[in-house]
Amino acid sequence: MLHLTRRWCAECYQECASENIPCWDPLYWASRAVTVCTVHRTPLLEICPWCSSRQPFLPKLPFLDRCDSCGGSLAVVPDAVEEGRCRKGSHQLWIALDCVDLIAAMQQFGPARYRTLQDNLDHLLMTQAGGEIGFLATALGLSRASIHNWFFGESRPCFLPFAEFCARTRIPMRSMLFSETPPITHPAHWRPGPMVEFVNRGGNVSEDKREKITEAFVRLLRRPQREWISVRQFAADQRVTVSYLRRSFPAPCKVLADATRQRTREGAAARTETRRLYLEEARAALAAAGRFPSQRALRLSGMVRPSDVRREASARR
Ligand SMILES: [Zn+2]
Ligand SMILES: [Zn+2]
Repeated sequence: MLHLTRRWCAECYQECASENIPCWDPLYWASRAVTVCTVHRTPLLEICPWCSSRQPFLPKLPFLDRCDSCGGSLAVVPDAVEEGRCRKGSHQLWIALDCVDLIAAMQQFGPARYRTLQDNLDHLLMTQAGGEIGFLATALGLSRASIHNWFFGESRPCFLPFAEFCARTRIPMRSMLFSETPPITHPAHWRPGPMVEFVNRGGNVSEDKREKITEAFVRLLRRPQREWISVRQFAADQRVTVSYLRRSFPAPCKVLADATRQRTREGAAARTETRRLYLEEARAALAAAGRFPSQRALRLSGMVRPSDVRREASARR
């Protein structure tokens, strides 16, 4: 959730110096989702302009505007500052301002409420995405698995994907996490970005949950084969994605998938056989009533499906 080393804005440091107050780092600079200063709209700096070293959060010297390694001033504004300055309303600035807002909200409301997040996500899905997580994910350019996991409470959102999600839907994080009245958004105002692949190889599925799934697999596979369910059904029961299951439990998934395929094949064969028996019965009934069991008579008899009669006739030809 936090940058690994300190970020800073040189212009902010310069302003502190000109007002003769000690430099200070606002909390939001530390957030990993933030890359710009909300006051100057410039990208936050991370390496010393003199010696290129990164800066620790707790410096040795009590001056934030001095490099921890070489003592050079960190308040040097880079030459390309005007090119780097982002537009008002840009994606990066939106996220930075949203983080400031979230920090304020957390001081007011305390820790995030995941129940509220789920309710708000549910509302968003129902009103703007026809209840389809896939639609929402595609429209926003985010991974389906992330949204799925937040929605079903499988995992708490990682901060970065969550900030990205809120920025793209233009819903403040504060509203998603704390607002009891569902946040208002409309796809027309969404800002889908390039597809973000949040690397989440089930890393957010808790150890407990994984164990529970393992046990469920064992229980299922011990039951007689006719009671087995498909991988898709199993995933839905366990409230995880199919891809997570396939990745984390390849062997049992293959066993289940093979069984499902075999069952489908057997089912199809059995249905064909039943149809053939119906046809024979219908033919016998017609003959018993003294009528010639022609194709037409079979179809009109109402005892069989017309399509079966046609299929049988074409098979004979
Ligand atoms: Zn600044
Ligand atoms: Zn330095």
